[in-house]
Amino acid sequence: MSIRQIDIPIEVKQVAKTLEDNGFEAFIVGGCTRDLMLGKTPKDWDLTTSAQPTQIQALFPEHYANNDYGTIGIKTESDDDTLKIIEVTPYRAEGRYTDARRPDSVTFGVSLEEDLKRRDFTVNALAFRISTGALIDLFEGKDDLVAKRLRAVGKAEERFAEDALRMMRAVRLAAELNFMIEDETMSAIVKNSNQLRRISVERVTGEFLRTLNSPTPMQGIVLMEKLGLLEHFLPELRIGIGVEQGGAHIYDVYEHLLRTMQAAADKDFSLKLRLAALFHDIAKPQTRREGGKNKQYTFFGHEVVGARMTKKILERLKLPRETIDEVVNLVRWHMFFADPEEITLAAVRRTITRIGEDHIEELLNLRVCDRIGMGRPKEQPFRFRKYKALVDQALRDPISVKMLRIDGVRIMELTGEKPGKKLGYILNALLEEALEDASRNTSEYLEKRTLALIQLPEDELFILAEAGKQKQAAEESAALKDIAREHHIG
Ligand code: ATP
Ligand code: MG
Repeated sequence: MSIRQIDIPIEVKQVAKTLEDNGFEAFIVGGCTRDLMLGKTPKDWDLTTSAQPTQIQALFPEHYANNDYGTIGIKTESDDDTLKIIEVTPYRAEGRYTDARRPDSVTFGVSLEEDLKRRDFTVNALAFRISTGALIDLFEGKDDLVAKRLRAVGKAEERFAEDALRMMRAVRLAAELNFMIEDETMSAIVKNSNQLRRISVERVTGEFLRTLNSPTPMQGIVLMEKLGLLEHFLPELRIGIGVEQGGAHIYDVYEHLLRTMQAAADKDFSLKLRLAALFHDIAKPQTRREGGKNKQYTFFGHEVVGARMTKKILERLKLPRETIDEVVNLVRWHMFFADPEEITLAAVRRTITRIGEDHIEELLNLRVCDRIGMGRPKEQPFRFRKYKALVDQALRDPISVKMLRIDGVRIMELTGEKPGKKLGYILNALLEEALEDASRNTSEYLEKRTLALIQLPEDELFILAEAGKQKQAAEESAALKDIAREHHIG
């Protein structure tokens, strides 16, 4: 295992050379050195140097200074996004940590050794001098790379007490690199896990999402649970541990959620889908009751309660609004493709109007993962082909007011009505009819209906226009009331 010169871009070599030509030391360091050793392409390039921030700035006119740690971003001419800015950071030593979050002070220009000592894991503390090909490995990081092992630099317990985020970084890196965490490092995390509460939500969420986006998120979450980290930022997930589901389910709720999420990762699906997979049955423990006719348990309304819980959780974790909305929608409607009896063309059209044209495919994908997560991967591919065909058909049918073969202008011509609420009600009432039966989407039929609808009083029109939404709201409040009654929750 070694670094090949050919894998280091000319832009990086140039920056290092300029520093050395001016009498400073320069090394590539951290994640990029680690990735090069592993034969991977680094995501970004970091250099560390004996030069002070002002000296770096003087050498590279095209730069910007971007943080408190003296890091200077150097602009290059490269078209490659990972190379447009190369970050150069002076050797740094950190003062004491008193808050488990950040050092009380930072000093520059000590030595490479000082700089490497403050880094989190041995595999992240390797430095490479490009001009000589020397690898600086003060903590046996190379051995750990070969063994695929994450080990804290120095005394693990002290390192996690200094900065609690490192515990989440350990799990995230283990999931991304498919490494294990060395025993002593692991015990130190267990001892310090409650310190995670001192870290800002944004930083914890950042590592959590990177774990989800890794090739092995299931291994990551299992580790977080085992190390006592999960309870500090996602306790809701743990409620499903040991909650049996009966019926076709061989796994408890918790394991089913993890397996569904892993299935989404195996298929390289988006972060949103992975989140929806992880949360789709989150409310099963709260909604479970002893069986119906031929079932051991039922989970009536779990998708409604689950959508609410998911929204709360994702808001707490400060995800972007758009992500929250999409994930919540997927959780809310994840049962749609689960019930073959429900899946008519009209129902598919209605579901598309609820979740959006762009997301119906994701709902199908979520269902595919859900099945794999149940341990029944191969069942019924024919059924999915049929669902896909229905979706394709439904997308050609009218699913929005815009797709109706009549518009506001034509309605005004026919009725003499002025622009306003009533016009909107008529259009939506017509859409409701077309959603029920797509063959009604002809100008002849819609014009005839317009002339009938215009006779109705506004409140009756409103009810027709809102029929779909009303039905959904009634279903949801019934489900929630039921559950609140049984479980004394509001
Ligand atoms: P990647 O770039 O793949 O996310 P990385 O290891 O480069 O992984 P960065 O966040 O870019 O992660 O950090 C760069 C380097 O800075 C790390 O390799 C490590 O040496 C050091 N580092 C980052 N965060 C910490 C921390 N919380 N404590 C100690 N050292 C850290
Ligand atoms: Mg990096």
